[in-house]
Amino acid sequence: MTREIDSGAETGFDRVLRFTLPDRHARGRIVRLGPALEDILAAHPYPPALKQLLSEALALTALTGSLLKDDGSQLTLQAQADDGIVSLLVCDYREGELRGYARHDEDRLAELDGNPSLQQLFGGGYLAITFDLAVTDQRYQGVVPLEGDSLSHAVERYFAQSEQVPTLIRTAVRAGHGGLIAGGLLVQHLAEGEEGRERLHVRMDHPEWEHVTALAGSMTEGELVDPDLSLEALVWRLFHEEREVRVLQGELIARGCRCSVVHFEEVLARFPKEDRKDMRDENGIIRVDCAFCSREFLIED
Ligand SMILES: [Zn+2]
Repeated sequence: MTREIDSGAETGFDRVLRFTLPDRHARGRIVRLGPALEDILAAHPYPPALKQLLSEALALTALTGSLLKDDGSQLTLQAQADDGIVSLLVCDYREGELRGYARHDEDRLAELDGNPSLQQLFGGGYLAITFDLAVTDQRYQGVVPLEGDSLSHAVERYFAQSEQVPTLIRTAVRAGHGGLIAGGLLVQHLAEGEEGRERLHVRMDHPEWEHVTALAGSMTEGELVDPDLSLEALVWRLFHEEREVRVLQGELIARGCRCSVVHFEEVLARFPKEDRKDMRDENGIIRVDCAFCSREFLIED
């Protein structure tokens, strides 16, 4: 196994580890969120089922966001159901900054068992994944139904349907170290042969990819969220029989939000004067909430 950058420490919490299996035309990302996850969850008093769901969503967002190549690009994951117990879940990722929140009906959630299914939480609905690319200023969005066992399955389906890239995703959430730990593994077939050759992954049964998914799929949920097992050690455990595995530490991840007085002043400035007048209170102040941070901003108009 070769490591391109050796920073000394093995990768633990709140940092993405990237890897590639050059012989197998596959790449991967692995992440284990800890303190950053607690920071994000602390914005709202979520019940356990919501913490579990949002933790999984944040791990998925970090994994998918770390596929972005350019600084300033953003990945947004949004799950929505008009009549769901969870009506909205939004997470985004930009240059290591991660944030997210979920909106739910407390009374309806309290009626469910401790471990509700995706179907029970959303009752249908859809998952939208949006890539905002900074360099080209382009936006790509794919939408898939919120079906299957988990958000992870819905994201796998997004890659299969919208990007036609075979992708394996595993996530796990557990309590430990004074808070929750959320782990995620993403492995996907590289779009090899883009220059004129038929894309390998048009054939979903390619033996090379089957081999990779067999190795990656042997990982247990416990390994993914074991704080005593570094991410390098986990990648080694899964792929040590491969001739070459390249490993590279990715971004550090922290809770990050763009809300500020200046930000909301800019947003409000785009509204017509008449509309802004309706938003003011008796003191001429406009109150704006940041749902990610659960903070209220008072903007003088
Ligand atoms: Zn905020």
